[in-house]
Amino acid sequence: MASDAYALLPEDWAAFCKEAGFPAFRAKQIVQGLYKDRIQDWSELTTLPGAMREKLEAELPLTTLKEVTRTPSGTDGVTKFLLEAQDGERIETVWIPADGRVTQCISSQVGCDMHCAFCASGQLGCVRSLTAAEIVAEVMVLSREMGQYPNNIVVMGMGEPFVNYDAVIRALRILNCQQGINIGARHITLSTCGIVPGIERLAEEGVQFELSVSLHAPNDTLRSQLMPVNRRWKINELLAACDAYTAATGRIITYEYTLVRNFNDRLSHAAELIRLLRGRKARVNLIPLSPVAEFKGETPSHADCLAFLDALLKAGIHTTMRRSRGKQADAACGQLRLRKIKEEQHGNKVL
Ligand code: SAH
Repeated sequence: MASDAYALLPEDWAAFCKEAGFPAFRAKQIVQGLYKDRIQDWSELTTLPGAMREKLEAELPLTTLKEVTRTPSGTDGVTKFLLEAQDGERIETVWIPADGRVTQCISSQVGCDMHCAFCASGQLGCVRSLTAAEIVAEVMVLSREMGQYPNNIVVMGMGEPFVNYDAVIRALRILNCQQGINIGARHITLSTCGIVPGIERLAEEGVQFELSVSLHAPNDTLRSQLMPVNRRWKINELLAACDAYTAATGRIITYEYTLVRNFNDRLSHAAELIRLLRGRKARVNLIPLSPVAEFKGETPSHADCLAFLDALLKAGIHTTMRRSRGKQADAACGQLRLRKIKEEQHGNKVL
């Protein structure tokens, strides 16, 4: 059995209570205490007998993540948090209010090994994957700070979720379960750089999570330049897995497409993308590049982004463009952690 309280599903709590000789209703009290009362320590769960609290304290500690810093939330209310795990490793999570609802963007790994050219998370490689309990703790820590749970979860922070498949899916099931935080499966989105076996596995999982796929280029030559993962799984293999996901789950895939000036933002690229996606059940989300110091590409002009959007819409492809939000919040994946590491390295040198 997992050794962190936040890694357990209600059925695991039922099994725990049974094994320990506690009555079944205790499992419900525990889940309620964890997710409705948001206890931070077992001693707060005073409805339980002392001996039981002691057993929980000894066997199933509550994972905590310590806040290192947060970016000041600008006028849009987007706030990025840098959180520290017990071993000192740091991850980012972002609170994104919009139209009366809140989306929380969560991380799945410390860093990332996928090395997409424009992504700050991958600059320093992957240190380790997060545990299921740490992923759930990202939501718990922010919900305590903000006084509410988010309405939506997107796994679009640091890391590639399908490289950490088991922990991520367990955490999402915990966030989804009705007795706990109760975020609907259709309000939970996983984003992958295109790990084909992960997409295939998720199709078999029997859950209704939304899936986003980072496409970012309309042909293999360009995509392989931006994303090394494309050398392993080519676009046609990726799209076939996505089609199978849609066939198995009924969920329509969203393709993320980061626009980089003069690289993949020309109307000829839009035409190629249209050819790829026409006839598929697909949505496109355009993301104007968020500049990162480590990548030489530039953000296209607003007019070029709109022209690209327009071409897709005219071809009948359901397309949105991500509003540029959280600029003050170093909102591109991994930027805050990277900046902090660099500041600290710099600080050490000065000292
Ligand atoms: N590893 C997953 C999820 C994390 S990234 C994935 O690749 O999908 C979430 C999205 O932000 C991805 O589409 C990613 O490619 C994109 N992204 C990362 N850095 C970016 C940047 N500097 N500008 C614009 N989009 C970026």
